[in-house]
Amino acid sequence: MPDAAFQPASASEATCIRVDLSGRPYDIVIGPDLLDEIGRRIAALRPGARVAIVTDRTVARHHLPRVEAALAAAGIDFTAIVVEPGEKSKSYAGLAQVAEGLIAARIERRDLVLALGGGVVGDLAGFAAAVVRRGVDIVQAPTTLLSQVDSSVGGKTGINSPQGKNLIGAFHQPVLVVADTAALDTLPARELRAGYAEVAKYGLLGDAALFDWLEANGRDVISGGPARGAAVAASCAAKAAIVARDEKETGDRALLNLGHTFGHALEAGAGFSDRLLHGEAVAIGMSLAFAFSARMGLCAGQDAVRATRHLASLGLPTRISDVPGDLPDTDGLMRLISQDKKVSRGALTFILVRAIGAAFIARDVDPDAVRRFLDEQRS
Ligand code: NAD
Ligand code: MG
Repeated sequence: MPDAAFQPASASEATCIRVDLSGRPYDIVIGPDLLDEIGRRIAALRPGARVAIVTDRTVARHHLPRVEAALAAAGIDFTAIVVEPGEKSKSYAGLAQVAEGLIAARIERRDLVLALGGGVVGDLAGFAAAVVRRGVDIVQAPTTLLSQVDSSVGGKTGINSPQGKNLIGAFHQPVLVVADTAALDTLPARELRAGYAEVAKYGLLGDAALFDWLEANGRDVISGGPARGAAVAASCAAKAAIVARDEKETGDRALLNLGHTFGHALEAGAGFSDRLLHGEAVAIGMSLAFAFSARMGLCAGQDAVRATRHLASLGLPTRISDVPGDLPDTDGLMRLISQDKKVSRGALTFILVRAIGAAFIARDVDPDAVRRFLDEQRS
């Protein structure tokens, strides 16, 4: 854990973070208005390549014209495939639309797919790029805070099965990530806050100095002040470091699941609906992971209070009772927790904490202790 105070990246220039995967490293470039110069970067990366932009209708309305202008200005031949916004597009039908669109546009192996949008577009376009012609390279241009700090980095791509989320997928690392922090200005406030939960996660799981800084600057990150770019850069650096250590999640990468086991059960309990966005579920899940760790005597109660207070101060939900509408009872939540993929053979695996910035993988958590804890939380 770094002890020194967190040093934010400069707000006005682009920051570049290298993801150090052996043999195929790639850059994450972060800064305001980078979509306006994305053509120049793509032309430099792969001269002569044709580009298929994959985006959703909402993002297209806000940002497609300037991306098309930037590609045209760089002399790049491009086409656009526009899917419906929302999780529904991460489906077999969405995959068919994008894959057939890529084939019809005659995208070949030396060409590029450009995913312009949030995590839905990134996951869908990434998976299509992984399988069309056995793999076409992809540039990720994430336009939600969640996708800038999380889904665009690390190479997980996929679609949902009727039997569960993200069950059909592949690892397909991008060749470049371009995160335009000014593109977040058009994002609804609720989506921004939800994405912020994943930013706070990086401090809470492994960087106490970053968390201190977020306590002072979180509001500015959400309102689009100069702290925003620094927060995106710090988050990408944290994720890049973990992914470089453990690309396929056989070890440390699981730390990124802090708050996700409880969170996923709540999301499933709310039917993956608008009642609870993923980041909102993660905010509650992280509060619960801290409270449970404190309850088990693993971390100081004060740290749990501090984690929860910060998330709540930015308008994120932190309690199970903050979820509007009905949820399954404790037995129902326990069933959802044990169906989660982070469970192996009966023993529950949770990401727990020793302190703010010190998460660890707990592999044999007693299900009865979790059940008692959930009962307490709900009474
Ligand atoms: P999303 O892609 O659905 O975007 C949320 C909404 O915001 C959509 O309606 C979209 O049209 C709109 N939008 C996007 N950018 C906008 C902008 N700049 N201005 C205005 N509106 C904009 O959701 P998300 O939260 O970005 O991503 C969620 C998805 O990411 C889930 O499917 C999840 O499974 C996936 N995910 C993947 C990974 C990974 O490692 N691959 C990690 C985390 C999440
Ligand atoms: Mg997440």
